Amino acid sequence: MASVLVTGGTRGIGAGIVDTLVAHGFNVGFCGRSLRPETEARAQALSGTYGVKVRAYACDISDAASREALLDAFTADFGSLEVLVNNAGIAPKVRCDLLDMSEESFEELLRTNLQGPFFLTQSAARRMIADAKTTEFRCIINIGSVSADYVSVNRGEYCLSKAGVAMATKLWAVRLADAQIPVYELRPGVIRSDMTAGVAEKYDKMIADGLTLQKRWGTPADVGRAVAALATGSLAYSTGEVINIDGGLTVLRF
Ligand code: NDP
Repeated sequence: MASVLVTGGTRGIGAGIVDTLVAHGFNVGFCGRSLRPETEARAQALSGTYGVKVRAYACDISDAASREALLDAFTADFGSLEVLVNNAGIAPKVRCDLLDMSEESFEELLRTNLQGPFFLTQSAARRMIADAKTTEFRCIINIGSVSADYVSVNRGEYCLSKAGVAMATKLWAVRLADAQIPVYELRPGVIRSDMTAGVAEKYDKMIADGLTLQKRWGTPADVGRAVAALATGSLAYSTGEVINIDGGLTVLRF
């Protein structure tokens, strides 16, 4: 069975992706910034439950050496990489108006949400191209955001980073087409996780008031199921595509 690397699989959407992939029989490696004892225990428990290989790694995706070490460790453990899921990401530490945004926050967001996944993809793609042995379906999946298109002036650096992920998806789709590696962007809307916990009340009200056509929060499992569909090759004759996982949030209405 194919091997999948999921960045940021320790919590939230990434954890939902890992859970769904192992249930589909994939071997899965995932990372967080640091490894907590409960993360290792979870990896072992998933492995035992589903009879697949599961490994947890510590990696800061904003750091080039850490990214290379992650890919080296994954390759040593799994042999080959079939699917890369660029999920890890951060929100600004403080939501503040564009007029007050700091360069420090801008750089942190861009380095983590855009530069990290971009260069992880570059290194992973080089390795995938060099590994001509595998007969499994291969692809790269970027977790973007509706914020690639929707403006939030109190977290502009996040919107910019996700707009960059959208273009990175298209760039890699073109570059990797000849290597038979489709590249997709999954674009979640409002998903319940630590990232949205601090603004849960605000979104509760917005959802009740009709922000989404489907009047509920999205869940990590909603995104996980979409990743599993892509990883199994259900959309093999598509690349460079955006798939919204947003309960209809982005359907234009008036
Ligand atoms: P969480 O904050 O709940 O989880 C973030 C995950 O990313 C954690 O596993 C965290 O690891 C990891 N991570 C953060 N920074 C780094 C780093 N530098 N290196 C490695 N791992 C890192 O966020 P979500 O699950 O909500 O978000 C996941 C993705 O989905 C993000 O890209 C986010 O932008 C996107 N998204 C989220 C939406 C939402 O509504 N929640 C909506 C649209 C998109 P650790 O545990 O070690 O901190």
